[in-house]
Formats: sequence, structure tokens, C-alpha cells
Amino acid sequence: MRLSTALLLLCAPPAAAFGPSAPRAAAVRAAAPSTSLGGTMAADYGIPCEDECAVDKYPRLPASVRPGVVTGQALLDLLGHAKDNGYAIPAVNCVSSSSINACLEAARQADAPIIIQFSSGGSQFYAGKGLDNSNLSAAIAGAISGAFHTRTLAEQYGVPVILHTDHCAKKLLPWIDGLLDASERFHAAHGEPLFSSHMIDLSEEPLEENLDICAAYLERMDQVGILLEMELGITGGEEDGVDNTDTPLEDLYSKPEEIHAVYERLTPISTSYTVAAAFGNVHGVYSPGNVRLEPDILDRAQTYISDQLGADAPADRKPVSFVFHGGSGSDVADIRRAIGYGTVKMNIDTDTQWSYWEGIKKFEAQYHDYLQTQIGNPEGAERPNKKYYDPRESMRAAEVNTIARLQQSFEDLNCVGICGLGEKEPAANVFGPRQGGLNV
Ligand SMILES: [Zn+2]
Repeated sequence: MRLSTALLLLCAPPAAAFGPSAPRAAAVRAAAPSTSLGGTMAADYGIPCEDECAVDKYPRLPASVRPGVVTGQALLDLLGHAKDNGYAIPAVNCVSSSSINACLEAARQADAPIIIQFSSGGSQFYAGKGLDNSNLSAAIAGAISGAFHTRTLAEQYGVPVILHTDHCAKKLLPWIDGLLDASERFHAAHGEPLFSSHMIDLSEEPLEENLDICAAYLERMDQVGILLEMELGITGGEEDGVDNTDTPLEDLYSKPEEIHAVYERLTPISTSYTVAAAFGNVHGVYSPGNVRLEPDILDRAQTYISDQLGADAPADRKPVSFVFHGGSGSDVADIRRAIGYGTVKMNIDTDTQWSYWEGIKKFEAQYHDYLQTQIGNPEGAERPNKKYYDPRESMRAAEVNTIARLQQSFEDLNCVGICGLGEKEPAANVFGPRQGGLNV
């Protein structure tokens, strides 16, 4: 252990991340949560804010958690609530305003918080793949654009949203630097960061370097109330151009000593961090039997660290908050065990990629004969097909199918009825095509 770390540890009270005994992070003092009804966007731009949007306090959540993007102390309170109450929040990779809206609608339907996250590739796609990205400017601009979309509409849907970015390898750090610049400016104007949290994935670097860089970023992020998600050990499989399909087996499982090293290094800086530890999880969906999850690794790490802390261990003996990557296709029993061992977030990408596509696939199958020409269908050679090929129809079919798939994720994660708002009233005054469109 380095001397400076040892001194910091002597000064800092041990604590469970987000637990009741967690010390207030510097970030929290710096980031005064917005107190105006309706959140930042509605208040700043005079957007009408009624019903769910105007909720002052969720019946079942800590008072700091309000509709819209959740940051700073409210974020720590929300994740602490998840850990204490045995649920995890689904984190869905979004690539367009359509996929964000599907997430918001799904969260309101589940009466629960959700995590909306952008990968580097998803951020670039949000900006448009025709835009030059050689200095990551498109990925930075796309993520900021998606953040403003999410901020504006999360309030309207009346759901708490954690706004996050996914895997950021060493060569992509300028992407996060750009987003932190934006959050610091947003913080100067609004008293909170633009994003809730960022992931930094240096799992391919040596552990010391991983910890050094994460510690430096946590210090910067903590100033404005942003949470850091760090990765330890390698998530197998392939996602968004990162191919770990040939990773040696032992690297797919984190060791308790390594997780303890993360705890020792980061906790003195701030408790506002989570650990994506590897326990055999892989990105993507594979045939049953090819994936061997071992959530007990998380349990062993919690016990190991608690033993090291001795009498200072938190009462629940879960000093670390974990993130479950590669959740798609996982067995619900493994998911529930991981939650029991302190997992507060589970990533879902592959399964919602499929559900979005499947919605379009089913739509095309249902209306195939109306989708082949602009004019002419089984009802007549002169009949127009505009209402079938209007992109809103196939995109809405994709959203509806994704919303249904996400309900299953919310259930798997014990994340239903968390806010306490009850059922949503059906939407009124929905505009065309043809006053609401086809039945998809
Ligand atoms: Zn991942």
C-alpha cells in the first residue's frame, strides 16, 4: 500500500458505499439538488409539468429522489435504497430518442427507476454515423444530445433516471473528458452534473494503473456529484466492437483481494463508486451451458473485505456495491443471488437489441402485403400504403415490443412498484398517423 493511501485510510471512517453509515461525499456538499418543482428542464424552459412530472415525493423512495435525472446525494440515496431493499435497477443501452422513450415508458409502467446509458458507439450513432468522429467529437456531442433528450423527457414521464455512460477503455478517455467538461459547465449553471455517472473500464490494464486512473477520475467526478463505475476483471463475449471472446477463463473471475484493493483505494476519496466485478458474465447471449456464472464470487468478496474491516465493517457486511454486466440471457436465479450479494445495477443490451428488432420483424410480418409498394395492397390496386410505411409505425412496434421485454427485466431484478405511483393513466390526445396509428 502506498503511504498516502495508508494515511487517507487512517483518516477516513470505513463505510459501506451508499449505506446509512456512509459519510457524505464531498460531491454531495458541492451538488445541491434542484429544489424547484418539475426538475431542471421544465423549470428552466417553462415546459408544462403535470401529474407524474409534478410529483414532489415518491411514496416509496427517499425524499431526495425526484422525477427526472438523479445525481449527487439523490443518486447515492437511490442506490442505497436498492441495496437495502434487495432490488437492482436495469441499465439499458440506448442509441436513439426512440430507444430512450421506450425505456422511459417501460420504467413508468414498472413504476420503477431506470438507468439509461450510452456506449461510445451508441453515442456516436446518436449524433449520426455520417459525422466525423476522428477526435471523438461526434461521440461527445451525441452523448450530450442524448443527455438533454433524456433530461427533458424523464421529468415528463415522472420516473427517476440514472443517466450513465457505458464502457470507456483507456483510448476512449478523451470521450469521458469531454462529457466531464460538459457536466462541470452544467453544474456551474444548475448545481448538479449533466450525467449521473460514468463507467471507466481499464480492466485490460494492470491493476495498479486501473486504480491510479480511476482514483484520479473519481476525485474530479466527486467535485460535481458524479458517480464512477469501474471494472475489475474482464467481461467475456463481444459488445460494441470490444471482443473478449478469447479471454483466458481465470480472467473472467475477479479475486476478493482485487476487489478489496479497489475498496481501499477508492473509499477514502468517495463512496460514490460501484464495481463491475467479473464473475463469469459475458456480453451477448449464448447457448445454455456455455456461460458459467458464479455470483458467489461477489459474496466471498463482501465477506473478505468485511473481515478485513473487522468491527468497522458495515452492519449488512456488504461494503461494496456491484454492477452486473452482460445481464442478457442470464438465469433469474443467478440474477437474484447477485442482487443478494450487493448488486444494484444490471446491464441489458443484447436482449433489448433483439426486442427492438423483433418488434419490427413482427410488424413487417403482420403488414407484409401493405409494405411492398407505395400504392396497392390486398384491399385494392389503388389503395395507398402510407399509414403502413410511415416510419413511426415500425418504430412504435419496436418500442412496444421493447417495453414488454423490459417488464420482464424489471421483474427479474425485483424492481417493480418501487416508486409507489401505481398504474399510469392511459395517454390522451395522441396524434396520428391516423389518430394513433395501427394496432402494433
Ligand atoms: Zn459491459
